[in-house]
Amino acid sequence: MEIKNKFPLTHHKEQPSQFIRVIEEKCIACGNCAEICPQSVWQKVGEIYQPVNYRDCSECGACWDVCEAEAIDFNDPKGGTGVIFPNT
Ligand code: SF4
Ligand code: SF4
Repeated sequence: MEIKNKFPLTHHKEQPSQFIRVIEEKCIACGNCAEICPQSVWQKVGEIYQPVNYRDCSECGACWDVCEAEAIDFNDPKGGTGVIFPNT
């Protein structure tokens, strides 16, 4: 079972803009982000990886941490967080 199915997320609201992006010219397509992401956010799109399912992001920061090319631009969603966890 995928982690995202064990810990389903509820988003506060739709974010006005995408808070996690790839800096396309820096991405070397290593796939580390996709490998570590517990929410299956990252997918290969053409020659690079993109946070296709960014609305599922739990804001753990793991992808940013493992991206040695510093190709991930992560900004806290408006209001500091975009998600709430059940039972919190
Ligand atoms: S970890 Fe960074 S360089 Fe590697 S595929 Fe992801 S965004 Fe690109
Ligand atoms: S911050 Fe965490 S959940 Fe969000 S895309 Fe990166 S690894 Fe996935």
